[in-house]
Amino acid sequence: MLPRMKDTDTRDIVILGGGPAGAAAAASAAARGLDVLLIDKARFPRDKLCGGLFTGRALTEYRHIFRRAPPEGLFEERRAISFHMGARPMGRMDDVPPMFLTMRRDLDAHLLGLAQEAGAELLTGQRVAAIDLAGECLTLEDGRTIRFRVLIGADGVTSAVARALFGRPFDPATIGFALEKEMPPVSDPETARTVRVDFGAADWGYGWSFPKRRSTTVGVGGLQARNPDMKARLHGYAALLDQGEAAGMKGHFLPFGDYRRRPGRGCVLLAGDAAGFVDPITGEGIAHALGSGRLAAEAAARALREGRPEGAAALYRAATRQIRLSLRIAALLRPIVFSDRMAPIFSRSFAGSRRVKGAYMRMLAGELDYPALLWLVARRLPVAAWRSWRMERVGSMGRSTGPRPPA
Ligand SMILES: Cc1cc2nc3c(=O)[nH]c(=O)nc-3n(C[C@H](O)[C@H](O)[C@H](O)COP(=O)(O)OP(=O)(O)OC[C@H]3O[C@@H](n4cnc5c(N)ncnc54)[C@H](O)[C@@H]3O)c2cc1C
Repeated sequence: MLPRMKDTDTRDIVILGGGPAGAAAAASAAARGLDVLLIDKARFPRDKLCGGLFTGRALTEYRHIFRRAPPEGLFEERRAISFHMGARPMGRMDDVPPMFLTMRRDLDAHLLGLAQEAGAELLTGQRVAAIDLAGECLTLEDGRTIRFRVLIGADGVTSAVARALFGRPFDPATIGFALEKEMPPVSDPETARTVRVDFGAADWGYGWSFPKRRSTTVGVGGLQARNPDMKARLHGYAALLDQGEAAGMKGHFLPFGDYRRRPGRGCVLLAGDAAGFVDPITGEGIAHALGSGRLAAEAAARALREGRPEGAAALYRAATRQIRLSLRIAALLRPIVFSDRMAPIFSRSFAGSRRVKGAYMRMLAGELDYPALLWLVARRLPVAAWRSWRMERVGSMGRSTGPRPPA
């Protein structure tokens, strides 16, 4: 896409970042007749490190924003998933709500094309050199200055807009980190149609293997502070999968549970990873990026219509309440899934229950929300804890006094 600029240098909305959050914001704002400029330092199509799992809830957002079905060939549908804890299988499901695999290179270029079609102006291959929040303008690397009435920071986890607002884009103590490698496609038909998730592959995180037509995306991710050896973890995980060497791996921060309670200030809003809107259990970020991008555009449009652009952040904060509630509940559930004390109980309960696994998949599909999942897990936990305690007790009695119980 060739960068072009209008003569005027003041825009209703300037969006920094052309990932899913930026594209959703641009399309939604342009569809409301606003003068929108989206700036990205990259030229598209460009690669973005990501598993490329597009969930049902992301698809619902896509349809809502772009008012169409995705084009043929953008996604590969998968309906089978298997869960593991190290070498131990935790269950397989063959008819879960559909999951969609894609490459971000293709997805993001497609979304940006839709934003342009809706009327947004794109300026790609252009870095922002300075952001002046008080002066409501930003300066491009080539020296041009652009004024905005509302600025949407959709510039990812290392967001320059978040840094300008809050001094730093994320908290290094709570940030996540993920490593990935595109590996050869798998030939075994059963493996090729199955999305695989491994809870033991990282500490406070997990591993994934997403089999696609042209490659298998293999990755591990989790809290950075808990995984100083993430490279070794990916090597170990690739070996477990029998995928060979994980040489040439790439890494990226993931705001894994580090979201902004106030995702903006005045006429400046943060969407997607820039606001930390990533699920702290699954690491899924595309759905919330699309959703928060749309909500940022709606809040901006309303604030501009009311002649109070400085009120945009308050409107946006109210609009993102549901996203933040969902992330808060996921953060409450996270120790149950990942902590040393609870993880063994959780994994036994998860492995033994199709209902919990089914609920997890329905949550990813957008058919169930986190409050309902929390309720389901909370109800099962005392029984699971009691069973776990009994099994350990029987095991230890067996070890000290008599024959082992059958496995
Ligand atoms: C290894 C890994 C695997 C993941 N797997 C999945 C998955 O399978 N499914 C899922 O839902 N989520 C996944 N995620 C999370 C997901 O990638 C993000 O949540 C999602 O990309 C957020 O979208 P975004 O638009 O907010 O930001 P991004 O997609 O990061 O887009 C930000 C854009 O801003 C641009 N930009 C940045 N700084 C500037 C600047 N100064 N000037 C101009 N432009 C700038 C960048 O070039 C980029 O195009 C994964 C993340 C990682 C790290």
